[in-house]
Order: sequence, then structure tokens, then C-alpha cells
Amino acid sequence: MEDHVHLKTQLNKDKLLDVLTKSHSPYSKFRVSAQIVEKLSGESFFGCNVENASFGATICAERSAISSMVSNVGSKAEIKEVHIVSDMEEPVSPCGVCRQSLVEFSTSETRVYVYAKDMKSFNVFSMSDLLPHAFVSF
Ligand SMILES: [Zn+2]
Repeated sequence: MEDHVHLKTQLNKDKLLDVLTKSHSPYSKFRVSAQIVEKLSGESFFGCNVENASFGATICAERSAISSMVSNVGSKAEIKEVHIVSDMEEPVSPCGVCRQSLVEFSTSETRVYVYAKDMKSFNVFSMSDLLPHAFVSF
């Protein structure tokens, strides 16, 4: 199954797992890392969760990676793929705030892969799977 993902996506498993070790999660002990493949540049951007003693100041791995993507590519960035891994035995889906943040840069073709810590079992979603009836404009 893992080789299948490698063939069809731009998953960088080694880097994704390296970024997982960078997580600042002293409070939850729940480490998460994310890889975003940006469509226009073809580049990948990575992020990990960065917790804070003031819990509301915490940022998730997905939004950390989005910040890196936009800082490098700019406002027109489009997400092709997202790969997310954590320390959990089962794949963990993005939180609601991250789903809304991902939608901002996603298309109907964007796919979100969530992996168990062994990177062998995973689920794949479209953004409309994760956030149906999303708020996208006003
Ligand atoms: Zn989140």
C-alpha cells in the first residue's frame, strides 16, 4: 500500500518523519507533521505543530505548512496534496480550523492523505469529504 502511495503522489516520507521530530508539543505530547505539495511550483512545504503555554496560541502542523507555502509561493498558491502523520497508531484527520485553512488554497482535485505512525495504513480524502459546504467567499 505504501509503495502505491509513493508512485501516485509526491509524498516525501523521510522529510515528513524528520519534521515530526521537530514538533514542539510539551503539553499534549501529540506530535504531528504535514507536507503540502503546491500545484503551481511543484514544491513541497512542511510544518509541525507548535504548542504554547497559552494554549490558544498553538498552531497545528497543517497551518504551519500553509504559512510556509504562502511565504514562499505567494497568495496564488494551490494545494495539490497534503500528507499528515502523527504519533498515533491510527490515521488522524485535520481539526476543523485546519480544514477551513486548507480549503482556502484547495481545489476539487486536492487530496488529503492521513497516515498512522507506521506510515503503512492511511486514509485519503477530498476537501469536500473533510469540509462539505465550506465557507469560501463572501
Ligand atoms: Zn489543526
